[in-house]
Amino acid sequence: MKKIEFFFQESPEAGKIYEITEGVFWFPMPLPMMGPEYVNCYILDDGQEIALVDTGANIGGCKNIWENILHKNFPEKKISKVYVTHHHPDHIGLAGWLCEKYNTEIVCSRTTFLMARMLSLDLHEKVSASTELFWRQAGMSQEMLGEKLRARPFNFGDGVSPLNKGFVRIIENEIININGVHWTVTMGNGHAPEHATFWSKELNLVLAGDQVLPGISSNLGVYPLEPNADTVGDWMNSCEKLLKLSSDEQLVLPGHGRPFSGLPRRLVQLIENHKAALKRMEEALKVGPKTAVELFKTIFKRDINKREYMLALHEAVGHVNHLYKAGLVNRDVRPDGAFIFKLKK
Ligand SMILES: [Zn+2]
Ligand SMILES: [Zn+2]
Repeated sequence: MKKIEFFFQESPEAGKIYEITEGVFWFPMPLPMMGPEYVNCYILDDGQEIALVDTGANIGGCKNIWENILHKNFPEKKISKVYVTHHHPDHIGLAGWLCEKYNTEIVCSRTTFLMARMLSLDLHEKVSASTELFWRQAGMSQEMLGEKLRARPFNFGDGVSPLNKGFVRIIENEIININGVHWTVTMGNGHAPEHATFWSKELNLVLAGDQVLPGISSNLGVYPLEPNADTVGDWMNSCEKLLKLSSDEQLVLPGHGRPFSGLPRRLVQLIENHKAALKRMEEALKVGPKTAVELFKTIFKRDINKREYMLALHEAVGHVNHLYKAGLVNRDVRPDGAFIFKLKK
């Protein structure tokens, strides 16, 4: 297995475009205030039309950035389709706007579209009872809970332009023709349900979205919508599945970070990292029962700061749910409502 190598040695400048190979462009879109510095969009050009893959979030000046990029580099070219890998705002956020402005259509998995449309219509001025219960069950600290209950909650629709038009569905193993190049669709899970990845044998390229990232591990968050989800199990199964399709020759075009090769090695690393975290959790639970939040340091091997707290909470629930679903731990309810996990003998 070859080591992981980056196609570009330098970090890119967000808002510029870079040519990967003839007709394939990488466009890192800035992500102000949202964690990673940029989200990767890709533009596939056959000389006549262009297709877009992922869009950035509906925040800041991102619409202007798209207008400038398209006007400057692809004037007069029709956008054939907007492909979306998964439902997160940084990927689908401007799909609705692009479709209406440029009269084109969104192509994605059914779960991607329905999740995004449902969540963007689900507006709350106050934290809902089910969300509060979920946070209590995870063992959120009283201080953080008080703060979160006083603030306006995150609304998915804040970063996503309305998805008023319908969509075109893609399914597992479907072969799609994007401007003359064939791509096989493979779905992943764990980071987002029914997350599409696109594989081209002709170009030896993989459009991976957030299913496989270099450097950072994709967040495997569990949310109140499906509080018992086993995102870690789903993720590891997806990595095993993708491993069978992967080769050292492929260039991976990820949703964040720089394009890279060494996909088999990266997938093995990801599986091993999560297995090691689960093993550390079992060791920690030998000492005594714990909540998801009490396992932060065990899972992430470092202190979690306030800014990372919510992402860590959602992902820690994913990890405890996995042990629970695998039958390795019992789950009891503490007097304060937190789920406390105890290792089975
Ligand atoms: Zn994502
Ligand atoms: Zn992302």
